[in-house]
Amino acid sequence: MSNRAVIVVIVVVVALLGLGAVLYGGTYAIMIGCAVAIIGIVELVGWIRRRRAKPPLVKQPAEPPISYEDLGRLFEALDQPNPPDCTHTLAETEAFLKSHNLPVALTLDWLRANGGFCDCEVIMNVAAKWGENVGWEPRNEG
Ligand SMILES: [Zn+2]
Repeated sequence: MSNRAVIVVIVVVVALLGLGAVLYGGTYAIMIGCAVAIIGIVELVGWIRRRRAKPPLVKQPAEPPISYEDLGRLFEALDQPNPPDCTHTLAETEAFLKSHNLPVALTLDWLRANGGFCDCEVIMNVAAKWGENVGWEPRNEG
């Protein structure tokens, strides 16, 4: 409900209450009391609607299980000139993690959750998304 609609509803309700008060011989105090109550309810309904209408918080991607520094080193290690044909595995990534004593399973899960299902996808997808955070820049071609 827009603000204008709320105001129109309030004006109509107050007018009806005034009419009712005149017709049934009610006192102004009752009329004003009812008007205030109705305005309160209308405001409350509007407030609840606004709260419901709030867009859900954008889900932030989970932080990596390794430090940004290590993640940057991983990107660097994978981003070699003339890389070998992709083996469609995370073998190089896994080797890097093992050789740096980093949590392998956790990190591979995190990489997959960020679109890195093989070594080249880690660069294509994960580094594209996280490179800026970890201060990594793609190697200049040529
Ligand atoms: Zn690949």
